Amino acid sequence: MRLLIFLSLIYLCYILLKSRWKSSGKKSAINKEMEKTADDIMIYDPCCKIYYPKKNCIAFKDKDKILYFCGKECKNKFLEDRKKGDFK
Ligand SMILES: [Zn+2]
Repeated sequence: MRLLIFLSLIYLCYILLKSRWKSSGKKSAINKEMEKTADDIMIYDPCCKIYYPKKNCIAFKDKDKILYFCGKECKNKFLEDRKKGDFK
């Protein structure tokens, strides 16, 4: 009878350890999910006025801030438009 209790205690410890491993595994999965969502941040394209996933964007450093465009054409168009504005 004592042996049975001892065995069940060991089994309980085993389950506790296992659940701990599981929860730690879940945590890292959540972190991964967060990294994934950080990659999928939507940014505003000032040229075609749509939101676009950041990872597919072209970044352009403009003085003190960074602008993002959905493509090279958009970036060039934006820069040209701004130039025209400066000449006015
Ligand atoms: Zn665009």
